[in-house]
Amino acid sequence: MGGPPVLIVGAGPIGLTLALELARFDVPTVVLDAKPEPTREGSRAIVLARHALATFVRLDCGAPMLEKAVVLARARTYFRDTELFCVEFPREREGELPRFVNLQQTYTEAALLDEAARTPAVALRWNARVSDLRQDGEGVTVVLAGGDEVRGSYVVGCDGARSTLRDLLGVGFPGRSHHDRFLIADVRAAMPFPRDERRFFFDPPQNPGRTMLVHPQPDNEWRIDWQVPGDTDAEEERRSGRLDERIRRVVGHGDYELAWLTAYLFHQRVADRWRSGRAFLAGDAAHLFSPFGARGLNSGVEDAVNLGWRLALVRAGDADDRLLDGYELERRSAALENLRVTTATMRFMAPTTPLHRLAREAILRGSLRSALLRRHVNSGRLAEPAVYGDSDGVIGRPLPLEIPTRPLVHSFALARLHRRDVLVRPDQYVARWLEGDAEAAVAEILRAPSGAP
Ligand SMILES: Cc1cc2nc3c(=O)[nH]c(=O)nc-3n(C[C@H](O)[C@H](O)[C@H](O)COP(=O)(O)OP(=O)(O)OC[C@H]3O[C@@H](n4cnc5c(N)ncnc54)[C@H](O)[C@@H]3O)c2cc1C
Repeated sequence: MGGPPVLIVGAGPIGLTLALELARFDVPTVVLDAKPEPTREGSRAIVLARHALATFVRLDCGAPMLEKAVVLARARTYFRDTELFCVEFPREREGELPRFVNLQQTYTEAALLDEAARTPAVALRWNARVSDLRQDGEGVTVVLAGGDEVRGSYVVGCDGARSTLRDLLGVGFPGRSHHDRFLIADVRAAMPFPRDERRFFFDPPQNPGRTMLVHPQPDNEWRIDWQVPGDTDAEEERRSGRLDERIRRVVGHGDYELAWLTAYLFHQRVADRWRSGRAFLAGDAAHLFSPFGARGLNSGVEDAVNLGWRLALVRAGDADDRLLDGYELERRSAALENLRVTTATMRFMAPTTPLHRLAREAILRGSLRSALLRRHVNSGRLAEPAVYGDSDGVIGRPLPLEIPTRPLVHSFALARLHRRDVLVRPDQYVARWLEGDAEAAVAEILRAPSGAP
């Protein structure tokens, strides 16, 4: 069984993760990207959570990321000049991955691309803009700008926020966009801050009335992120000298070098449908969250893993087509949860009504004295892996993180699927498709030596 490859539209972090995940199940993929060649587009997703790192390690591209990344030890939140609270991330135990690291997305993508290039089952095609899609009972055909056609068994749109696949499938993308803009500068400088801390400021003297975030990155770079009025233009800030003034207020009088500058409007949106026949959406094509919480790339990696094993089993004829419906069921509900969390953060950070503004001011002022009020200060809830409900035959018991990173856990799990109707999913959950004592089987799997058949 098998047939034509799975087509992946978009060689961003999510498309590449999906290609590598499918390759671990011996599923060939063709990854089509509109860009003429890989580009280095700026730091974007800098915070990688442990569950995404565990996937990258399992897919053999985590080592260069871990080597380069800055491990975050704590996150501090300030109101004006005063520290309100500090969240300490427990230090990882021997053999455990860090809870959060900071790494520019360019490095994450480079490590994924290197591994994809080493993987024979992954065929990468640049300069391949998908412009149309047809599907039938046997497979899908995508049409490239220029007229070439590529045939596949399934297609997955990992083509980002302005997804062509989503438009071609007529899928709605409801939600909202924020009025305020966020001006982001990656600056190389010697800074007066420790290199393992995230610092978030409400109403700081350097950006009165709004927020500012300072994050360490590798290469002695710092991300400075200012909340600014919606009509702010990054290039005009640079030309007018206002950017230099802003940076000086943070880095002081020493030398600095600007590595990347951009201004973003953030969006909160989740696609109405994630599956249309043999076509699927994943990553930013399926959901957009404001990045305060680091839930974009991190949750997109979970999409890729969740869809990967389902596609592999169905394509191989080992599971019924209905298994694919579980992808939308689980991952769309995870996206709605991420939307809920990031919407609450944005409501606090950038209140849009006078009432919300008043409430926020009262909470911030009051929290200078009251520990109780401090609990309501929301400077971003950093990404957690999704916990699925009792859906799709899932028991919903998270496995210890180290289990999915064991080599051969896939083939071991698949063997179990045939024999015991139990699957250890690479996204850390246990599923039961038919009757069977899943808990006992899992206990047996955990007792078995690593990689046992
Ligand atoms: C300022 C900022 C900070 C962020 N911080 C974080 C963070 O700390 N942590 C986090 O988890 N997330 C963060 N994010 C979000 C993260 O950057 C995205 O979630 C991530 O890039 C999504 O990856 P993707 O592969 O889905 O899409 P993309 O990275 O957008 O890749 C899409 C790919 O599809 C290709 N493409 C598009 N259309 C077509 C077409 N028609 N045919 C062929 N190819 C096509 C594009 O060329 C591109 O290569 C941040 C985002 C921003 C902007």
